Amino acid sequence: MSTFSAPKGTYDLIPPESAQFLAVREAFSAPLRRAGYGYVETPGFEQTGLFSRGVGESTDIVTKEMYTLTTRGGDELALRPEGTASVLRAALQAGLHRGALPAKLWYSGSYYRYERPQAGRYRHFSQVGAEALGAEDPALDAELIILAADAFRALGLRQVRLLLNSLGDKECRPAYRAALQDFLRALDLDEDTRRRIEINPLRVLDDKRESVQQQLTGAPMMRDHLCEGCKAYHEQVRELLTAAGVAFEDDPRLVRGLDYYTRTTFEFVHDGLGSQSAVGGGGRYDGLSEMIGGPELPSVGWALGVDRTVLALRAEDVAPQTPAGAQVFAVPLGEDARRALFAAVTELRREGVAADFAYGGKGMKNAMKSANRSGARFALVLGDRDLAEGVVQLKDLESGEQSPVPLERVVAAVRAKLG
Ligand code: ATP
Ligand code: MG
Repeated sequence: MSTFSAPKGTYDLIPPESAQFLAVREAFSAPLRRAGYGYVETPGFEQTGLFSRGVGESTDIVTKEMYTLTTRGGDELALRPEGTASVLRAALQAGLHRGALPAKLWYSGSYYRYERPQAGRYRHFSQVGAEALGAEDPALDAELIILAADAFRALGLRQVRLLLNSLGDKECRPAYRAALQDFLRALDLDEDTRRRIEINPLRVLDDKRESVQQQLTGAPMMRDHLCEGCKAYHEQVRELLTAAGVAFEDDPRLVRGLDYYTRTTFEFVHDGLGSQSAVGGGGRYDGLSEMIGGPELPSVGWALGVDRTVLALRAEDVAPQTPAGAQVFAVPLGEDARRALFAAVTELRREGVAADFAYGGKGMKNAMKSANRSGARFALVLGDRDLAEGVVQLKDLESGEQSPVPLERVVAAVRAKLG
């Protein structure tokens, strides 16, 4: 070990486990690409103000969890704690809102939050996200939810549940907000929470503490205050999901308690993860563009947590399909054989065969050990006598069978064996 270790709340991705992360990222993004989402990548840090406005002044993310810094030049920057605000900022900066709408984008990357580290909760974590900007259409909300649900299923997960709610819009939310505030002001709550009632009362519904949750019985629910437009919109989303065979549970308590989150809101939870159960979430944010100085741009999106999804796979004991390693492992015996076999490996690779090589001048015994460990199906063993005869031994590592093949026809021979 070195003098240093990974900072608190972080961990390294190391083979072979790291392959599961790639498999999850791939499973999340492949359906998006097929559905017309284009890849977007933004910087790992932004002006702090983008997040205080774009995520919300009263959220835990902004008040407690952001990594901020002042640069030598005096800029106030923050490591990105989430993706939506950055992606929307980038889309507006590029003028995508003046092109064909919706602009459909997907991203994948690292996010940073100063949280109390525990299983499934880290200070550096990975998300894959998708945003559909500039359209208000229940089919778009449904599309995103279906893509996420299908991705979890394609990974082999069976215990992911979808929670669904509507948060209303600027027509019906204000009256609901006031009713909720009246209810909350009468409760026995701490100073911080009382302040939250005034800034962002919906967020109080999301309080995880038992002492708070107990008092929330009987709180007014947005569901009972939706205007006709929101009700019809939500009903369409529900119908489209049902028609697509995507099961969901109505959860009237589910919130993303910011004023610019509207209508559809959802979360994917996994029952095998203890209290860090959310594996992804999202919703409609029709007012966010205006909050960061842009035009009206109704949009919907989600972010799925890669780290927790990997934990979910382990909890369900399912192994995602990971790319196979080497198909062929080359074992040279002697200096001349080494040169000839190295050339053969290069040729195999150029022809698309996954091949590896016994480096470091190992003896036969150790080299064969490496070959077996590599998971390769075949070994190519080349000694001086073989070399003189212009052949290489192709050994089936499963059956132990071995036969000579002409050195200049090694690609064709390996191909034929691999089928
Ligand atoms: P939680 O309520 O668990 O804190 P959140 O509402 O803060 O989640 P989002 O901002 O919606 O989470 O992020 C989307 C997904 O990213 C989450 O569902 C989760 O899977 C993942 N995620 C969020 N924060 C962390 C973290 N600190 N460590 C690992 N994964 C995280
Ligand atoms: Mg959180």
